[in-house]
This record gives sequence, structure tokens and C-alpha cells, in this order.
Amino acid sequence: MSKQVEKQLIVFDFDWSLADQDSDRWIFEVLAPEIRRKIKNKSSEYYWTDLVAEGLRELHEQGGTREEIEGALRIMPFHPAMIRGVKTLKAAEKPQTTFLCLSSANSVFISTILESKGLQDLFTEIVTNPAEWDPSGLLKLRRHVDPNGPQHNCPVNCSVNICKGEELDAFLKRQDTVYDRIIYVGDGSNDFCPVLRLRSQDMVLCRRYRGLEHRIAEEGERAGLKCQVRYWAGAWEVEEIFKQLPGVVESGQRATPYVRDANDPAFVWQEPGPLKAYNVGIVNHTVESLYEAD
Ligand SMILES: [Mg+2]
Ligand SMILES: [Zn+2]
Repeated sequence: MSKQVEKQLIVFDFDWSLADQDSDRWIFEVLAPEIRRKIKNKSSEYYWTDLVAEGLRELHEQGGTREEIEGALRIMPFHPAMIRGVKTLKAAEKPQTTFLCLSSANSVFISTILESKGLQDLFTEIVTNPAEWDPSGLLKLRRHVDPNGPQHNCPVNCSVNICKGEELDAFLKRQDTVYDRIIYVGDGSNDFCPVLRLRSQDMVLCRRYRGLEHRIAEEGERAGLKCQVRYWAGAWEVEEIFKQLPGVVESGQRATPYVRDANDPAFVWQEPGPLKAYNVGIVNHTVESLYEAD
């Protein structure tokens, strides 16, 4: 059954999806590489957000200021094509596009960066870890889900604290709107859960060479992935896909589980294997960032 797209929802992961870097790691790389190293060394033992909160306390004790952190966030890589792409969709009357952000960064990093790009009004909601500046200039960061309260109940092993699938479902319930099409833009392995909840007329824009691509290839078919899959590496390709979105969707039938751009001459597909063998040398992505993908 074909249907005109009147209302669509675009869901963005933040780090390495809307933004072209990882904000948690970036600020320490810019301001205090020794704290970045400490966090990295402890990352297999402790929950990530707790380590970042601890790192922020340490940075504060060393004299790091709010101005320095905000300055580092404002210069974080963010592709102009991504800004153009989302602004164009937001401004269009038809289809009407609602934007949702699901991120395991934090509210202050995200809002500071969005403001610096003129995107402070982009999202209807930003679901992430809460953070606030205290008067002394310390950025206090907490987990989205209180570690002492009830935890989420994710069927596909989302890490503790945030299950983006549950968050997407909860947002849809709060909005009480049926979207003709949902598009999810993500890169990390924790973006797999919400993508599984999409329908055949929906679409994931999956960033190449990172955790989400790996999980889609490894688990997608078995887990019953229904949505269409488009791959991208640079934000200019997301802008291009946004421009070419069909005005009509077909619903009611299962889409091809996933489509690779085999015709793209720049793309050499390697069968998924251990992440180590998986780095095919893309600019901007170090082996380290692949290992640390979440
Ligand atoms: Mg990400
Ligand atoms: Zn989940």
C-alpha cells in the first residue's frame, strides 16, 4: 500500500552521527589528555558515564574552567553539510519533520554544541544523561537512569543506563502521532536496538565502519530487522539522502533486510569479522575509535 509522506520523524544519535566526533572523549583530548588516558585505561571496568563524570571532577580540580570546556565543544568537528541537511528538512512544510535526539553523551555538551551551530531549536526532545554547571564551574553529570532505581529491560543487551529502543517507544507514545516514515541516523552498537523497532517503510542511515554496521551485518537478519538500510561515511551523503527521500512510502511488506551500496566504487566491503580486521582505513576513524564505539 503506498502512502504520501506527510509526517516524518528523524531520530539522531549525537556522537559520530549528527556530530563528527565523540564529545565525551574530545573534551579530554583537547584539555587534559592524561585524564583521557586514565578514562581509557579504566573503561573496561567501570560504566562509561561514571568515568566521564569523574574525569570532569578531576579536570575541575586541576583548574579547568567552564569557558575552556565550552570552547572545546564549540570547535568539535561538525560537518557543514549536516547542518544544511537538517535545517532544510526542518524548514520544509511538506513533509513535516520532527527531530528527536537519543544520546549517551549529556545535556550540556549537546546543547552547547547545538547552540554554536544555530541548531538549538532542532529537536523536539533530547533524551540523554542530565548535566548541569554548579556555581564553581564544575560540570556535574549523572546517569540517565538512576543506578539505584529500576533498570531498563532491553531484549538485545543495551548497556546499562540507556536503552534507546525503549526511549524511542516512549517518545512515540508521548507524541501520540503516527509517523508515515521514521529515519534513524546512527553509528554505534547501542543504536541497533531502536533500529530493530522500525517498520518496513522506515529507514536507518547507518554510518560505515563502526559498531552499528557491524551489528546489522552480524545480527540484523536473525533479529528480524525490517527497515531499509542506507550506508554513509561522510555527512554530505546524509544531506544527499535527505534531498532524495521519496515522497511516497510503501508499507505493509517486509523490506529487503539490508542493502549495501555495492555500486559505489569507493566502497570495498569486507565481511564482518573481529573489529581489528575491520578497519578499512577511513579518514577520521582510528582503530581506537572503532574499539571504543558504543
Ligand atoms: Mg554515536
Ligand atoms: Zn535496548
